[in-house]
Amino acid sequence: MAEYIEKKYHIPKEIEVNGMSIEIIMEEELLRRKDSSGQFDPMKMKIYIDPALCPAQQKVTLVHEVIEAINHLYDMDLEHHKICLLEAALFGLGFLQG
Ligand SMILES: [Zn+2]
Repeated sequence: MAEYIEKKYHIPKEIEVNGMSIEIIMEEELLRRKDSSGQFDPMKMKIYIDPALCPAQQKVTLVHEVIEAINHLYDMDLEHHKICLLEAALFGLGFLQG
């Protein structure tokens, strides 16, 4: 059973990509400070999400940052607009929402 840092929105505490554990951190003021709703740090193996986002935005941001992590850890070399297309496609499947 997954552990959630944000129980209500089902944001997991950590995820695993290619055998690497990535911690998910709710980072206050991320949007204001970095002008970004989320961030993947490949050095620290952490994904940061601004908790001020609404539930749907938190989830879509997590999906985006997970794709960033997959791109990095599998050396996929995807251009950023393709990461954004994958984000929209995966979120559009519906099961990540709600
Ligand atoms: Zn991005």
